[in-house]
Amino acid sequence: MRPPLDRYELTVCASLQDALSALASDPSARPFAGGTDLMVLMEAGHLPAGRYVDLSRVRELRGIDTGGDAVTLGAMTTYTEVLRSNVLRREFPLLGMAAAETGGVATQNRGTIGGNIANASPAADTPPVLLAYDASLDLVSSSGTRRVAYTEFHRGYKQMDLRPGELIARVRRAVDRAAATPVRAAAGLTERELDVLRLLADGLRQEQIARALFITSKTVATHIQHILGKLGLHSRAEAVAFAHRHNLFRSI
Ligand SMILES: Cc1cc2nc3c(=O)[nH]c(=O)nc-3n(C[C@H](O)[C@H](O)[C@H](O)COP(=O)(O)OP(=O)(O)OC[C@H]3O[C@@H](n4cnc5c(N)ncnc54)[C@H](O)[C@@H]3O)c2cc1C
Repeated sequence: MRPPLDRYELTVCASLQDALSALASDPSARPFAGGTDLMVLMEAGHLPAGRYVDLSRVRELRGIDTGGDAVTLGAMTTYTEVLRSNVLRREFPLLGMAAAETGGVATQNRGTIGGNIANASPAADTPPVLLAYDASLDLVSSSGTRRVAYTEFHRGYKQMDLRPGELIARVRRAVDRAAATPVRAAAGLTERELDVLRLLADGLRQEQIARALFITSKTVATHIQHILGKLGLHSRAEAVAFAHRHNLFRSI
């Protein structure tokens, strides 16, 4: 049975510093992001009473940044924001596919990437993408920040390398632009053609590439024809081999 509501306390924080102080001052306090997992637990009577620290107004945990050698997104990025981001569509396409598969629109509007990771469900949709991209997590607490490779983060069922009072701040994917640029320049491929080629090399079928890039299957077929023409190749298998020879699949 659900505990009475007055046994829950929600501390709304306006900055990252406030949130970290609130978590540090009360070791039993838990972060509250979009609430899509926590509210289900509450309704089922499994959410422990006590203090929750609301992150929804913490600007430092939001935003999608690209530039330099990485693309990063704040832990409070919602699935809807992932789906609407041109940057992520280009730099993190499989994340968009995972977001599109997650729940319905209401869940996509509230649910966050950080919450999906920290909820640590073995059935969650975004963690396999983070593994595929060799992503890392920036973790922050009142004692400082640290970066953890995602492959090291989840250690078992509901077990993770997240210390008391620590928050997932950002998800980071390194992008090897230098590796891809000379090949693209030499071949005259457009950004979109390079995206298609990378996804082909990653083993995705035409329809899956279309879903990942939010274009039609017919457009993917046209891009593939252009890629073959520009590279002087005769088949998709040759294009895949070309991408692997130039390590293009590694920067997906
Ligand atoms: C109807 C429905 C359908 C769903 N379908 C899917 C689906 O298809 N695939 C899927 O993967 N998931 C699905 N979910 C699960 C859920 O939407 C996701 O796990 C969501 O991303 C959780 O994010 P949130 O912001 O709502 O987290 P919350 O519920 O606020 O928090 C979840 C957990 O993460 C912790 N937490 C949150 N943010 C942080 C942070 N920055 N740092 C540290 N800890 C943090 C919280 O303390 C809590 O323990 C579904 C949920 C519902 C209700």
